Amino acid sequence: MLPLVKIHQAVSQAEDNGLFRKLTSLYDKIPQTECQRCATCCTVPWPAYIVEFLHAFRYINKNMPEKWPDFIAGAVRYYFLELVDINQRCPFLDENNNCSIYEVRPFTCRIYGLFSRGDEGDVARRNMERLAEKYRAEHGIELPREIVEFKLPRCSRVRVTNSRHKKPQELLHLLTADLGQLESFFVPAPVVDSQYTFVPYVNHLVMSIVTEGARYRRPRVMKEFLEKGHSELLESYVEKFKRTSF
Ligand code: SF4
Ligand code: SF4
Repeated sequence: MLPLVKIHQAVSQAEDNGLFRKLTSLYDKIPQTECQRCATCCTVPWPAYIVEFLHAFRYINKNMPEKWPDFIAGAVRYYFLELVDINQRCPFLDENNNCSIYEVRPFTCRIYGLFSRGDEGDVARRNMERLAEKYRAEHGIELPREIVEFKLPRCSRVRVTNSRHKKPQELLHLLTADLGQLESFFVPAPVVDSQYTFVPYVNHLVMSIVTEGARYRRPRVMKEFLEKGHSELLESYVEKFKRTSF
């Protein structure tokens, strides 16, 4: 993850090396789709690589810098509460169910509904059960069952409207590999393969701006929220970090 002081430098490096141009051209190859735009899939922010995080960071800085306080507040809330509050949503989803960063949304948001999801749901469920056990054992926190058992329904309402490739899923695998190549500009290939930097945009942002001390207190915020339905500690963090200037 990139520390705050290194973000602008990383954006410049990406520009100088044509990474954003290559990323845009990669996005352009994804089969075009249409759907009902119900935003159910935006309940969970999707993972993105560093290069995509920087791409969106630059877009927001250029086109809507006044939105940073809201985005940061949403990201900080999401980060602290995602395991205890089922109502948390991707901070880029606006009140009309539109994506505020639609032009630069990550690859994973673009391909939702195109991949067969196989048994990913079972894997996610097992991971959540392990996480619930960890919070119970280490922090005395009982994660709500509705969150542990939450499963994003597979969407069958995505329709491919334009694809020059006969096998869209094969194409997506190739593009995923290309995306990994772009990421290897920032981290060594084994790190790309481990998917260590492939985390939701929310996490990229929070890791850059929220101090380690605050992140360390995440369980305290979660506990407070479960007990009182709100967290004063969290609100103090939101107030502090949303004033971050880039
Ligand atoms: S892909 Fe499916 S779940 Fe996501 S917005 Fe479109 S219709 Fe809704
Ligand atoms: S970035 Fe946009 S498309 Fe992706 S989950 Fe968030 S609101 Fe949805």
